[in-house]
Amino acid sequence: MQATNISLDNASDRAGRDELVPSRYALRIGEIDVLVVSDGVLPLPTTMLGYNAEPTVRAAWMHDMFLPPDAFDWALNVVLVRSGGQTILIDAGLGADPELNLPRAGQTIRRLEAAGIDLGAVTDVVLTHMHMDHVGGLLVEGVKERLRPDLRIHVAAAEVKFWESPDFSRTSMPQGFPDALRSAAKRFAREYQSQLRLFDDEQQVAPGIFVRRTGGHTPGHSVVRIASGGDALTFAGDAVFAVGFDQPGWYNGFEHDPEEAARVRIRLLRELAATGELLVATHMPFPSIGHVAIAGDTFRWVPTFWDF
Ligand SMILES: [Zn+2]
Repeated sequence: MQATNISLDNASDRAGRDELVPSRYALRIGEIDVLVVSDGVLPLPTTMLGYNAEPTVRAAWMHDMFLPPDAFDWALNVVLVRSGGQTILIDAGLGADPELNLPRAGQTIRRLEAAGIDLGAVTDVVLTHMHMDHVGGLLVEGVKERLRPDLRIHVAAAEVKFWESPDFSRTSMPQGFPDALRSAAKRFAREYQSQLRLFDDEQQVAPGIFVRRTGGHTPGHSVVRIASGGDALTFAGDAVFAVGFDQPGWYNGFEHDPEEAARVRIRLLRELAATGELLVATHMPFPSIGHVAIAGDTFRWVPTFWDF
């Protein structure tokens, strides 16, 4: 893994000079350029981390992590990849939803531009799932018009089907979220219908880039594996959260099938611990690049050292 020096760099920034911390991190996986971009953060109640956990155990975990007890800022990351002449955006961030009042997220489009990425250069979008914090960036006013008319949007067929009549009975979300998620997914499916490229279980998107359905978080939830020249990185979407290493069995409030989501998480973490491949996940602290280690019965997150 080495830092890249093409336009996906970490330094120069045209639109974001006022930002105190960098919002993107570039690396190379073999021949493939990868850019992790922060969409910002969104504050959520800590119960969301594990609503099946004993409140005292959950409070102890927060305390041990030096996090506030009631609510904290979740990271929100997307990934841009260049391979074989294709430019692939993996997830699109939150976009704008004034009703939920999450003004610190929804930065993806602006930050891609700051990184010199023209929206019209994006050939493919891959969606890990259709929750608003993953598709909302494409619903921002004026964005669709700037995308290529032949843009391909890869998403699991099971995901599109799920949102025709979504089941929220096993989720535990803050008020307002189910309605917002429902309407964002429906709007997305409607607006981008002709561009959707559906797959059942696995799909090659570009040389070295495969999207694979895991289910769990949502029925069509998928992860993306980027592999080249002996290196590999998996973008896990919402299969793994920051708490998922210490407490892989905790149910996240946004999981539509929490038991299956926990099984998916444990399987994926075991796999990554065994292979030593890199992990990036949507809601892991930016830049969210690291390895997974086994720690007794659970796991340990080992962030990579910044390389720039
Ligand atoms: Zn999410």
